Formats: sequence, structure tokens, C-alpha cells
Amino acid sequence: PPFSVGLTGGIGSGKTTVADMFGELGASLIDTDAIAHQLSAPGGRAIAAIRNSFGTEFITEAGAMDRVRMRAHVFAQPPARKQLEAILHPLIRSETARAAQEAKGAYLIFVVPLLVESGNWQSQTARVLVVDCEEEIQIARVMRRNNLTRAEVEAIMAAQASRQARLAAADDVLENNGDAAALMPRVQQLHSQYLALAAAG
Ligand code: ATP
Repeated sequence: PPFSVGLTGGIGSGKTTVADMFGELGASLIDTDAIAHQLSAPGGRAIAAIRNSFGTEFITEAGAMDRVRMRAHVFAQPPARKQLEAILHPLIRSETARAAQEAKGAYLIFVVPLLVESGNWQSQTARVLVVDCEEEIQIARVMRRNNLTRAEVEAIMAAQASRQARLAAADDVLENNGDAAALMPRVQQLHSQYLALAAAG
């Protein structure tokens, strides 16, 4: 398989910002969140199974999974979360594999927000790259971007892996505490390293 990097980080750490920079340098990006969204969008491959397992009330008029309703449902009932994951995960796997096969870049970057939490990605990527930022900066960025309160952001962060756990899983760390321009030199450096590893096969 082509050389691949799993890119992860906490909410608002800068994954998308960083991934786009690698994309500009010539990496192929595979965004697992976007794939998951497509699967449960109108006409998505997961819709029939979601309707069968959970009922029509979880499908919007437009034919998408009702995200708000489903989030509340799986939050209240852990077995329902397992059931939803059992539908989505195999489809996400097959769609990411297909995207990987079609990719033309020098190497692959899988953007996986919950890479550390889900556990089965690390075996599929040659390296794990963690975008890391100080929690106060992370909180400020997400409050501003999503118009959330501090408490709301902290609750989301509490449901994710800790900063420490993510760093412990990292092969490479990209620090994102400064402005976006400050990221580029380190992105360039990692890109050169990944090109060399990809060439070494
Ligand atoms: P999520 O997990 O929510 O998808 P993410 O990890 O992909 O988030 P981004 O969307 O890249 O993070 O960044 C979060 C927010 O912070 C965005 O509004 C982005 O523009 C901003 N941001 C990211 N990096 C920086 C930076 N170095 N300086 C200023 N703003 C930044």
C-alpha cells in the first residue's frame, strides 16, 4: 500500500488547516469525517441501514440521517451508539480504501479526528501526526469558530482523548500555538520527511 500518515488532533486543534497545507504540497487527503458525512447524507450508502435499524424518525424529509436526533439518541443509549458504529464503520473503511486506491498524490494523509480514540487506525497508517495546541488556545478558537461557551467546548474536549494520550500516540507532532503562517516551515519539513519515507517504500 502507498505510504500513509494518520493526521489527528483535538477539536479545533487545526487539523483541517494543516491538512490543506499538505494537500497544497502534493499529498492526497482522505477526510474520514467528510466520508462519514457523505454516507449519512441524502442518498448516502448508510441511509437504508440506518432507516432499517433505527426507524424512519431518524431520517429527515430530505433523506439524510437526522444528526441532531441521532446524537441525542446515541448519547442517551450506548448500545445504540454501537449499533450505529456497526453500520458506519465498515462503510467508512471501504470508502476510505477506495479513496486511497484512487489517490494520485505522493503519499496519503488520512484525517481522522478520533484516531486515538478509535484504536484501529494506527495499524493502518505508517505514521501518526498529531496537531497539538495548548488547551487555552484550543478553547478560544473553538468558542470563536462555533460560537460556543467555554463550558460547551470543555465538555466536548472531555469526551475526547486527553492531550497527553494523543501525544503518547504520536510519531510526529506539529505544534499549532502561533499564527497559521508559522505552521508552514514545519509542514514543509514533515512533507520532505514523508516524501523520503514514501520513496524508501
Ligand atoms: P475540528 O476538529 O473541529 O474539525 P480542526 O482540528 O480541523 O477542527 P481547524 O478547523 O483547522 O481545526 O481550526 C479550528 C479553527 O481555528 C478554525 O477557525 C481555524 O481557522 C482556526 N485556526 C487554526 N489554526 C490557527 C492558527 N494557527 N491561528 C489562528 N487560527 C487558527
